[in-house]
This record gives sequence, structure tokens and C-alpha cells, in this order.
Amino acid sequence: MSVAERLAAVRQRIARACEAARRDAGAVTLVAVSKRHPVERVREAFDAGQLVFGENYVQELVQKAAQVAGARWHFIGHLQRNKVKMVLKARATVETVGSLRLLAELAKRAEEPQSLLLQVNVAGEDGKSGCSVRELPGLIAAAREAEKIELRGLMTIPPFDEDPRPHFAALRRLAEEHSLTELSMGMSADLETAIAEGATIVRVGTAIFGPRPE
Ligand SMILES: *Cc1c(COP(=O)(O)O)cnc(C)c1O
Repeated sequence: MSVAERLAAVRQRIARACEAARRDAGAVTLVAVSKRHPVERVREAFDAGQLVFGENYVQELVQKAAQVAGARWHFIGHLQRNKVKMVLKARATVETVGSLRLLAELAKRAEEPQSLLLQVNVAGEDGKSGCSVRELPGLIAAAREAEKIELRGLMTIPPFDEDPRPHFAALRRLAEEHSLTELSMGMSADLETAIAEGATIVRVGTAIFGPRPE
């Protein structure tokens, strides 16, 4: 199957999940996760109408962004503070802010309004990225105080070996509690569950681009 065909199938899955959840299909943004795939695949998806792409490495994001004019980018990997300038320059939405230190660096360096999501380690897994549920209110307050920061919502990656549903539901409750609108959750395997729990952004790689090259 071509990228365009797989993309159409993913869009259909999203539409069906929205219908089942009685939600407007336009309420869910598809982020096509192109990490490790060549820029030609990104262009194929872009030519098939996909506008938003996700990358885990700043260098890769910057390179691809320079080659696909008109695409928008979400950064979904671990962001090192010395790469903040690059990610800001690419005008990427950063979905993976999980510490006050990183937030402060983004706030300090941003010259234009910068969209971001806070990544939450909802399951409290050891060694996992994202802030803890306990740390979240402090990060939200700091993000709301920062002049150039536009806090959009929350993002999570549930544990690989568990039913994701309770973790998605937990993220939704946290967003509601803090009046945040965007919920980035759900990937190739579980986007339907995420949409049922209120996802407004799904990050889908494999189902669109196939297995990632090593
Ligand atoms: C790679 C990745 C995805 C996409 O995962 P698939 O299972 O290939 O859909 C989504 N979110 C994050 C944070 C990722 O790193």
C-alpha cells in the first residue's frame, strides 16, 4: 500500500472513532509521525493532504522542515536545552515539555508566541519522560505566566504493556481540572481508544509510513 492509501485508511479510522464517540471528526488533529523515514515519504503524505508531521529528533525535524514547504511540525521527542533554539526557529509545536528547566529555556528564548503541551507521566513509571501528576500544577502555572508561551494542553505516552484506557482517561481528567483543551494521546495501535477518551491530537507513525527503518 502507498503512503496515500495508508493515510486514507488512518483518516477513516479516525472518522469512525469520532462517530462512535459522537465527536466531530474535525476535532481530532492527525500528527503523522515521520521519524526515521526519508523526506520523500513526508512529501508523499503532504501531497496527499497531510499538513502536520511529528519528529523525535530536532536535527531531523529541521532538515525535513526545510525540504517540505508548507508543512507544520510537532516535536515529540526528548528536547535537550541546547536544541531549544533550533526547535523554536522551525516554529514547531513542542509536545514534550516535562520540566521547569526546559519550560524556562523555551520561555527565555522564544521571540514569537510558542505553542506547547506538557508531557505527563500519568502512570508514574520509573525513568519515563514527562512530569509527574504532582508536578503538573507548578508547570501549568509557570507556563501560564510566561509571556511568549501558549500552553495548549497535555500529552502522554501510556505504559507499553498495559491497557491504555485508564491512562488516557486520567490525562483527560487532568486537562479538565486545569481547563486545558488539547489532549495529545493515541498512536497507531490505540488511536480509537484515545479518541473515545477525548484525544484532540493523535500521533500516528507506523500505520501511515509502515515500519521504521533502523
Ligand atoms: C514514534 C512515536 C509515535 C508513533 O508511534 P506509532 O506506533 O508508530 O504510531 C507517537 N508518539 C511518540 C511520542 C512517538 O515517539
